[in-house]
Amino acid sequence: MKKSCWILAAWVAGAVTAGPVPRNVVLFIGDGMSTPQRMVAEEFARKAGTGPLAMNALPNQATTRTCSASSLVTDSAAAATAIACGVKTRNGSVGVDAEGRRLESCAEVAKRTGRQVGIVTSVTINHATPAGFYAHQRQRSMLYEIGLDLVRSGFDLFMGGGLAGANDKTGRVEDVGNLYDYAAALGWTVVEGRGGFDALAGTSAHPIWYRDGEQALPYAIDAANGANPRLPELTRFALDYLDGRADEKGFFLMVEGGRIDWAGHANEAAANLRDLLELDAAVKVALEFQAAHPDTLVIVTGDHETGGMTMGFAGTGYAFYMERLAHQTCSSDAFRDRYHALKAKKGTTFDDVAALITASYGFKFAPDEAGGKNDPMVLKQGDIDSLKRHFEGGGLTDKLRRLMQNTAGVGWTTGSHTGLPVLTTSAGPGAERFTGLLDNTDIAKTIKSFYE
Ligand SMILES: [Zn+2]
Repeated sequence: MKKSCWILAAWVAGAVTAGPVPRNVVLFIGDGMSTPQRMVAEEFARKAGTGPLAMNALPNQATTRTCSASSLVTDSAAAATAIACGVKTRNGSVGVDAEGRRLESCAEVAKRTGRQVGIVTSVTINHATPAGFYAHQRQRSMLYEIGLDLVRSGFDLFMGGGLAGANDKTGRVEDVGNLYDYAAALGWTVVEGRGGFDALAGTSAHPIWYRDGEQALPYAIDAANGANPRLPELTRFALDYLDGRADEKGFFLMVEGGRIDWAGHANEAAANLRDLLELDAAVKVALEFQAAHPDTLVIVTGDHETGGMTMGFAGTGYAFYMERLAHQTCSSDAFRDRYHALKAKKGTTFDDVAALITASYGFKFAPDEAGGKNDPMVLKQGDIDSLKRHFEGGGLTDKLRRLMQNTAGVGWTTGSHTGLPVLTTSAGPGAERFTGLLDNTDIAKTIKSFYE
């Protein structure tokens, strides 16, 4: 274990501040994770007897502004650029400023100054948030170019979903063919799926790139047990791998819980909180690492709020029944697939679908012994009639999704992002720098100050 040292940093104004400098930095970003998301998951976990959340209990807390250069409501690209590079840019841009000039991210500074660098996400690896740390493109939709930036980043580890647009080189300025093949030709060890991940145990290969497949990882609520590794397992591997290769300068690791945002766009609380709880499990892994390596700073932030989520809505008055979300066993996307497969079968009736509804959302069509007479999961006749109409006329999945939000008392105002601030929490050397009212750019500025 290396002891964290103290530096003196001279500021432009001439003031001198001193503070501990971490050897390792682990930055968690919950995409679309603001205070409502963190607190819905918190109350859900407390009710289930598994709370409080590790990320919410960290000793240093800061309210963090999220606006971009072009709007009070940021997108993920501008937010990632601010958090990674310390500069506000236009919505849609990654790693460049509002005029398109290239910026340097804290991950790139870490690399340039001799540190190990890793990027982990639960969504596609060239999605906006991870891209903010290694890519420099005016548009987040330039997926092939962002993938090219990844391959040429010089970073040590990438883990997550696939690379969107790996073959999408049509009309590009530069065409190096399939990007996985190009990466392999440049010396990357690229592995896929559970088998590929397990084969990495104790590897000396470098650099390494694990991908789940071609897409994002499934929602946590839909993830099959023992299938491909999830965020906590990826985080554990990344910490050990980077630590094993690091010298006294340590490493920088960014871990993104990316599908919290996707569930926010879908206005679906059960999927939202399950992915958030999975990110919290990854935070716990980092805190265990920190206990053995106290020279490690752990930071947990969000890039923006998604969905305008609230705890309570008009239909439930002064009540919030987040425990009812525990009845939901799959995302509405997964339900829709199963429902459509069932409905495609000849002779499927509403009664056949009713069983699937009960298994997926916990809604009951009649009281049973377990729930008793006042079981809140028993559907009212009006709702049953409405579900039957949607079975005939379409839109059943969306009706069920809304019914679930209303039953739990979760309100949503938008299918997009909002301008709410996010919460940044932290522990470890340097964490005292992340308190009070912050701007999202302060995160990158502070991390960079540890390195230079
Ligand atoms: Zn985002």
